Amino acid sequence: MEEVLTNPKAGFYINRDVFGTEGDFITSPEVSQMFGEMIGVWVMCLWEQMGQPSKVNLVELGPGRGTLMADLLRGTSKFKNFIESLQIHMVECSPALQKLQHKNLKCVDEDSHNGNVDKRTISMLTGTPVSWHAALEQVPSGLPTIIIAHEFYDALPVHQFQRASRGWCEKMIDVAEDSPFRFVLSPQSTPAKLYLMERCKWAGAEEIAKLDQIEVCPKAIELTHTIAKRISSDGGGALVIDYGLDGIVSDSLQAIRKHKFVNILDNPGSADLSAYVDFASIRHSAEEASDDVIVHGPITQSQFLGSLGINFRVEALLKNCTDEQAESLRTGYWRLVGEGEAPFWEGPDDQVPIGMGTRYLVMAIVNKKQGIPISFQ
Ligand code: SAH
Repeated sequence: MEEVLTNPKAGFYINRDVFGTEGDFITSPEVSQMFGEMIGVWVMCLWEQMGQPSKVNLVELGPGRGTLMADLLRGTSKFKNFIESLQIHMVECSPALQKLQHKNLKCVDEDSHNGNVDKRTISMLTGTPVSWHAALEQVPSGLPTIIIAHEFYDALPVHQFQRASRGWCEKMIDVAEDSPFRFVLSPQSTPAKLYLMERCKWAGAEEIAKLDQIEVCPKAIELTHTIAKRISSDGGGALVIDYGLDGIVSDSLQAIRKHKFVNILDNPGSADLSAYVDFASIRHSAEEASDDVIVHGPITQSQFLGSLGINFRVEALLKNCTDEQAESLRTGYWRLVGEGEAPFWEGPDDQVPIGMGTRYLVMAIVNKKQGIPISFQ
């Protein structure tokens, strides 16, 4: 999964823009500017709870086209103290998407002065310094930190286990004679089994007894440890938004190409692979990593955006727009907070938008010193 998505030559994300109606899938920031604006409200409130530090690292993991960050900056640009405190760090593995983020944040590369080799890049939206990193570990520590992970965890590689007569076996991929790839069950124990054992310890025996398949995501556990340790030492908090469950995920790995589900093993690198996020394991990993952090949620995206006032925002925007913009605002609003199939849809059945309001969950990992963040009170 990791190779298929991030291989430097052939990875799905590496060479192209995969988002939007023309691409393979659409995400909330691409649905409506209100999404990034609402995240901006949350981030600014946390910054206030942190005591309005004069410098703060604002980190986004997997920023896609950079739309969320651009909307966040535009939305908060009037709040000078907040804006002036920001140092933006984009954690992105794809050179093509880094370029697109640079463009969408209207970045300019300053000439190095005083013989300084570190060239600064500034977003002209707000005059904020922006830098890019391949992993969270590379973001300099020592400043209070706010981390956003929107649709990042679902791209981390999962291991799938299946119950067999000889116990839990890992599903592996084999090269078949008649087709390029096929799934097989491991004959022996595999290293990832340790993570399965760990995951099962966090669950009740009854929850496990009901399942014939279990997915685990070691990289999600590692990433959560890194986030929790960073927030413990530097202060601040992280916001995780993704589709998933507040418990064990059984069998969710999926492939999407051009907005349609396709076979996972078909033409690797040409379709997005993703899996449901196991929010309960994020909570356990964060709590295990540090006593200084506390985990809130998950709550639904609809509760989250509602508590931040998205209904007031849509009303305000509707007062001053064209009919076409009004249509797109109403549809966007519904997609972000609605549930099930869009009631207003008149297009083809197989393209009906599905509401993201309850499928997407929101969790916060914050330093205990910060108190309870807005939306989770
Ligand atoms: N947050 C964006 C994009 C989500 S898609 C949005 O909501 O629109 C996942 C993003 O994470 C892409 O930008 C992808 O290139 C990046 N990504 C995936 N795996 C990564 C990894 N291991 N390290 C760094 N970036 C990664």
